[in-house]
Amino acid sequence: MPAPQNAAAREVYEKERAHVLTPWSAWGTTDPMVVTAAEGCHLTDGDGNRLLDFTSQLVNTNIGHQHPVVVKAIQDQAAELCTINPAHANAARAEAARLIAEVAPAGMNRVFFTNAGTEAVEHAVRMARRHTGRHKTLSAFRSYHGATTTSMNLTGDTRRWANDMGNTGAVHFHAPFLYRSQFYAENDKQECDRALEHLDSLIGLEGPDHFAALIIESVPGTVGIMVPPADYLRGVREICDKYGIVMICDEVMSGFGRTGEWMALDNFRSGDDDWAPDLITFAKGSNSGYVPLGGVILHDRIAASFETTPYTGGLTYAGHPLACASVVATINLMRDEKIVENAKMIGEDVIGPRLRELAEKHPSIGEVRGLGVFWAVEMVADRETREPLAPYGGSSEAMARTFATAKKDGLLLFMNYNRFHVVPPCIITPDEANEGLDIFDRALDVADEYVRS
Ligand code: PMP
Repeated sequence: MPAPQNAAAREVYEKERAHVLTPWSAWGTTDPMVVTAAEGCHLTDGDGNRLLDFTSQLVNTNIGHQHPVVVKAIQDQAAELCTINPAHANAARAEAARLIAEVAPAGMNRVFFTNAGTEAVEHAVRMARRHTGRHKTLSAFRSYHGATTTSMNLTGDTRRWANDMGNTGAVHFHAPFLYRSQFYAENDKQECDRALEHLDSLIGLEGPDHFAALIIESVPGTVGIMVPPADYLRGVREICDKYGIVMICDEVMSGFGRTGEWMALDNFRSGDDDWAPDLITFAKGSNSGYVPLGGVILHDRIAASFETTPYTGGLTYAGHPLACASVVATINLMRDEKIVENAKMIGEDVIGPRLRELAEKHPSIGEVRGLGVFWAVEMVADRETREPLAPYGGSSEAMARTFATAKKDGLLLFMNYNRFHVVPPCIITPDEANEGLDIFDRALDVADEYVRS
């Protein structure tokens, strides 16, 4: 990323480089893009370039940037009451919790608020430990659950490696991923059956009586948007029931409209009285990240554990009035403007079909998969062997040049190892989505140059 030419933006850039330790970056190598403004699905960089945001930042601005209704709700709340002790009650938090319970599966009626996704995961696991009296946890190798201690141990992908705390009781398993099947499966049904058999036998070998919780992203996000086979999560629920393990669905990235349903797990349930997890962790889309907020939604059967015995955990800013006011405004807005329905339509009518066309045309695409506004494009150097265009946990010139070409043309993509994610705000219009996909199409010509023929 070249430093901005504009003097004011250049000053921001230099100050950041001098004083900010940017997440996941080495000191001195950070090269941040200065963002000066944002609106809807667009960002403006320090030199005034307008970029179509196919990242929703970190897959959180589901209602797009700077929605005036939500901005006003935050301003009004700030004028009325900025902060209170979370032991007190306030109107914004009460209504936010009521609305969250309304969009969650039936039977999930209580909300514990946090300030971020990772804190939601920490507390969900603690609740499961308190509920079961057990310690160990299960999570998928290809998963990301956050960057604080327990969440990082649960995280399966390479971001854990540098932070591993040794024996923490976190046991990892292979979740389904047909394109790179660990089970030599040839179709979804085989992948599902074998992944469930593997999980069951792993629990048996590790000691079923020791597991407090199993956490799983309903549709895994940063690790590659591997939409699970239709019956997988239901199967996991059955295994958890068999061993008395608390099932946590991590909806931090996939929740609140991203997949074209309120919760990603709704894609795999047939109705209100069907299966439900014990706990759901959420954050990002619940208020599009306008003010930091996360939380845990508790099923009544878990909440019952804390009826007379207190839940021993709390955070000074949890359920912050400004954040809760933005949740209330966001959920109401999503309902009024049918934003979840829009995400579903865009996935079915625009992004899905167009990405499949791009996969036909560009030999650098190995697979496209997703739903709603939650899509991954798996890039390969060789379609036969499925060799990734960048190594697991690493980067490559082919990926970097493709990303930079799209950006120069006005499209900001989400890039992770050998994948581009197409994850625009849920409010995106068909025209905007097509415009971004046209740019992506041209950029993919660069990736094709690296494919072995
Ligand atoms: N869980 C999932 C599935 C996530 O995608 C993330 C963030 N990308 C987290 C947890 C952690 O959330 P936060 O960054 O808000 O702590």
